[in-house]
Amino acid sequence: MSETTIHELKSLLFSLIRCNTVNPPGNSREAVDLIVEYLKNTPADIKIIEAWDNKNKTYMYNLIAEYSTGSGKTLIFNGHHDVVPPGANWSYDPFKPVEENGWIIGRGASDMKGGIAAMVYAFKHLCENPDFKGKLVLSIVADEEIDSSAGTRYLLEKGLLKGDYAIVGESTGLNIVTARKGVIWVKIKTLGVAAHGSKPHLGVNAIEKMAKIIERLSKLRWSIRHPRLGKPTMNFGIIRGGTSINTVADECELLIDMRAIPGQKIEDIKKRICGEIEKIRLKDKDLKYEIELIDVFPPYEIDRKHELVKIARKTVKEITGKTPKLLAKPGSSDVVFLAEKGIASIDLGPTGRNAHGANEAVNFESVAKLSEIYIKVAKRILK
Ligand SMILES: [Zn+2]
Repeated sequence: MSETTIHELKSLLFSLIRCNTVNPPGNSREAVDLIVEYLKNTPADIKIIEAWDNKNKTYMYNLIAEYSTGSGKTLIFNGHHDVVPPGANWSYDPFKPVEENGWIIGRGASDMKGGIAAMVYAFKHLCENPDFKGKLVLSIVADEEIDSSAGTRYLLEKGLLKGDYAIVGESTGLNIVTARKGVIWVKIKTLGVAAHGSKPHLGVNAIEKMAKIIERLSKLRWSIRHPRLGKPTMNFGIIRGGTSINTVADECELLIDMRAIPGQKIEDIKKRICGEIEKIRLKDKDLKYEIELIDVFPPYEIDRKHELVKIARKTVKEITGKTPKLLAKPGSSDVVFLAEKGIASIDLGPTGRNAHGANEAVNFESVAKLSEIYIKVAKRILK
């Protein structure tokens, strides 16, 4: 990379970090406008798509830029512009980036404005030097830090984001993520009958019923196991119930965070949980309950021999001199929603530090290398 391009990429990254895109509220348009301005002299077709966010009662802003050289496959670059609140213990202003020993420090540097800067730069370069066949799509989205419902999920559901391949630029240390656990949030409610605390036999205690459910579910064992992600897990996150110490509780609610592994079907998991509760009910006719899936981020896996993985691997090795690892991660990213729609997708991003913590940083050299990797992968996959 020349001095001029390094300077251009770095100032793009600095400007992105300066935009305070904290979510919640997640309604900042600044980062999207900045990218529109950066791309304005390219031949790309650029759209700003606003999505109503019901959680925060506000609009959130997504950018989709497309450039096609004619028939062929479509590659999507995807990155989220929202960041988590800065929190405490920063040695710097989180929204005034500084460079120290090759690291750029600021909220969102690693998660994931470093990745965005690399893909926006690569997209512009590819539009100006269209040495590929097919279509490139740049999607810079909102709301990933909460649940993506006004970001990637919204764009996919509305049919506004379509493609054959996708690269998500979350920080991966220039490695490739090929598997992720899914997230299933389950709400179980038991329903009892209220009575005076001095005469509990006249009521049905919803808390006691929930205790039976917890006991049973905590013994639940899954026979399947993923070679890299291990077994599915379950955590009882929140329990609420009862109205006063001297009243038989007529309601109790339990929230469960379940992490599924690739290959597990959401419906099967729900059936299994219901099946366990039904076993209790066979012996306890007073047990009344409701079960609801509050949110689902499906488990994800791409074949490690898929052409996108192979091309990405070869290109990273050529540009960095190091063979990237193929990683499996317990956490989720927008990759899972893209993959759910049948788009072959990977996470491939820069080297970050302290994402979501104080003094978050990204290694600038890895951002520069990443932009070269993106350009080369695009040319290789769109041929
Ligand atoms: Zn992220």
